[in-house]
Amino acid sequence: MSGSQSTLNVAHQALDFDRIRADFPLLSRSVHGKPLIYFDSANTSQKPAAVIEAVDHFYRQTNANVARAVHTLGDEATTAYEASRDKLARFINAPSRDEVIFTSGTTQAINLVAYSYALPRLNPGDAILVTQMEHHANIVPWQLICERSGATLKVAPITESGELIVERFFELLTPEVKLAAVTHVSNVLGTVNPIAVLARECHRRGIPLLVDGSQAAPHLRVDVRALGCDFYALTGHKLFGPTGTGLLWARREHLNAMPPFFGGGEMIREVRFEGTVFADPPHKFEAGTPNIAGFVGLGAALDYIELIGLDNIAARELELRVHLTEAMRSVPGLRIIGEAREKVPVNSFLIDGVHAHDLATLLDHEGVAVRSGHHCAHPLMQFYGVAATLRASLAFYNTHEEIDAFIAAIGRVRKLLA
Ligand code: PMP
Repeated sequence: MSGSQSTLNVAHQALDFDRIRADFPLLSRSVHGKPLIYFDSANTSQKPAAVIEAVDHFYRQTNANVARAVHTLGDEATTAYEASRDKLARFINAPSRDEVIFTSGTTQAINLVAYSYALPRLNPGDAILVTQMEHHANIVPWQLICERSGATLKVAPITESGELIVERFFELLTPEVKLAAVTHVSNVLGTVNPIAVLARECHRRGIPLLVDGSQAAPHLRVDVRALGCDFYALTGHKLFGPTGTGLLWARREHLNAMPPFFGGGEMIREVRFEGTVFADPPHKFEAGTPNIAGFVGLGAALDYIELIGLDNIAARELELRVHLTEAMRSVPGLRIIGEAREKVPVNSFLIDGVHAHDLATLLDHEGVAVRSGHHCAHPLMQFYGVAATLRASLAFYNTHEEIDAFIAAIGRVRKLLA
């Protein structure tokens, strides 16, 4: 074991991950009479009791609309909701809480940038640069605005092992590129992209960089200042928080220059029929009643993550990933898709002669939840020449015993399919 790895192990020895797992009530249920093995956290993570209780407490004790009422409940609700903005700002090391826009998730965050920032700046002949490994949420919004503006989409290639070809990305940063949009971590391959390196090169050429952080935030320390990007989007439900929560972080100068995307209540300073004066960011982009309880829950999720410690999570996940990968490599005929050097514990795979959906269905009967399909990444499936893969995606609450049970279950269901 390398020196750095053993230091990491020592760092999390004090934590009892079996006890931490017990914080997630759902993980103790069974499926088809078998103990649940939840290997689908990249799809959505399970929630600790602290998050469930925060949402429950909000509806039992605090429920009121935010930023409208002067009564006690309205004040408490607003305080709890806005406290989550502070926590999110800290979590991503944003220079200011006012740069944190609450959204329903990554999809809404990227669409906000597409329509409010990019579309007004695009002319025929311009381009947006993405990579081959993007989720549809970081492809389709750009295609939609390209159609409207006459711009085109350029695609940076990846290697067979699932790594971005960085030199090709740089070569594609030509003057007509008005924005680059790259995932921090691939939801299919688990690849961690070198965002700081990409951002530096984008900025040398005056091109803003949007980062899709959906799959990074649950695993890595996100520091938007160190990354040097312009926009960072993430989703709360993969980060142990409720569905319908997420954020867009953007540099203040971009937010000041962007017109609102949705109009309505909460986002104005004054409305007259002759014209409206908008609120300052972040509220300028937050029309209507938000998912208040959801963001209170997300704040509780961030508190929970902080309690465990991001370094401890990284150390735990490194151990799990090494174990999972070695165990999967020992299965005859199993091919892991995505063998990048920098990865999170997300392994896509196929087994010779076995249809991904058939295997996933039979694994479900063994209590194992893995996702099968295209993972909202059709272009990546096309690159690998497959219609679908299976994907085992883990979080710190998974165990070594589950990995062994998963491999044993693959052996059993394979016999059924033979
Ligand atoms: N980008 C990536 C890399 C994702 O994995 C996901 C969710 N699967 C999204 C974007 C979209 O997130 P949401 O559906 O929460 O908006």
